[in-house]
Amino acid sequence: MANDDVPTNAAKPEVDSAVYKTLLESTKAIPWKIDWSTKRFAYIGPQIEALLGWSPESWVTVQDWADRMHPDDRQWVVDYCVAQSKAGVDHEADYRALTKDGSYVWLRDVVHVVRNADGVVEALIGFMFDISERKRSEERLMGLQRELEDLSFKDGLTDVGNRRRFDTIMEAEWGSAGRNQRPLSLVMIDIDCFKQYNDRYGHVRGDECLKRVAQTLRRGARRPRDFFARYGGEEFALVLPETDESGAERVAARCRDAIAEEAIPHETSSVAPTVTVSIGVGTIIPSRDDSALLFIEEVDRRLYRAKQEGRNRVVGRPR
Ligand code: GH3
Ligand code: MG
Ligand code: MG
Repeated sequence: MANDDVPTNAAKPEVDSAVYKTLLESTKAIPWKIDWSTKRFAYIGPQIEALLGWSPESWVTVQDWADRMHPDDRQWVVDYCVAQSKAGVDHEADYRALTKDGSYVWLRDVVHVVRNADGVVEALIGFMFDISERKRSEERLMGLQRELEDLSFKDGLTDVGNRRRFDTIMEAEWGSAGRNQRPLSLVMIDIDCFKQYNDRYGHVRGDECLKRVAQTLRRGARRPRDFFARYGGEEFALVLPETDESGAERVAARCRDAIAEEAIPHETSSVAPTVTVSIGVGTIIPSRDDSALLFIEEVDRRLYRAKQEGRNRVVGRPR
């Protein structure tokens, strides 16, 4: 296919090398070459100065490269690149490069290992890419993801654990209590006459009341594994691992008292002039035949009994 009109690569090597040089030095990626035997830079693209502020002439040895790296990245990047280069394996690494004015730029270094006919490593040739914008997007995205995870575990109104989180925690603690044959306690709390509260003060004040009650009750979760959630509507739940019956009943009584002490006015309550709560509490060492659902239902029945017996009280195991 040799044709006079079509330039071939072999025809004008001196032109080609000029073309390559122009291409290399006009891309955003920064080309470089290191002689493996001397560990010295044979070349680095002039673009490096615009990106990091260090002149091309200042890149003399591999040590200069390592020195201009964030201390937290240096150890693993240098170890990794040296090991890969010794093994003759192409590789890449992301790290923060030091700029002349003392800040850092995220780089991706993509390295090709050049070997001679005998397979001996002769040189490293690579490109440095500025990936700081990508890193910034990644960090933003990770932040958003964390926020989203937090939100998916939290009740939007009261900012405490939500029902989904309760289900997950309850299942995990039920499994753990069963395996270790340790007591697990559950406290279920419901605001008394809350329908009347909304009727008297309106839904906005109703919501504020719910938030205040939630913030007060969450203080009942004192141990690291205690967990408090909004179970639904104006009902809350406290999961108390490693807590026996008397301990759980003490926590429940404290919750009732704490709400009473808040003294949130409730003119139309049939129980008291202030907001009160009714509480059911239960403790179990789960055996194979027990079910978490039946246990929750049992505690809920005790809460119902607290309502029937006059509200503003705690009901535990019948004695
Ligand atoms: P009891 O003493 O028997 O618990 O009576 P109650 O009125 O508290 O219970 P009921 O189940 O009859 O009514 C619960 C009320 O809680 C009705 C509902 O409008 C209100 N409620 C549930 N969720 C919210 C909420 O997110 N915001 C507000 N403002 N009210 C809520
Ligand atoms: Mg209620
Ligand atoms: Mg209710």
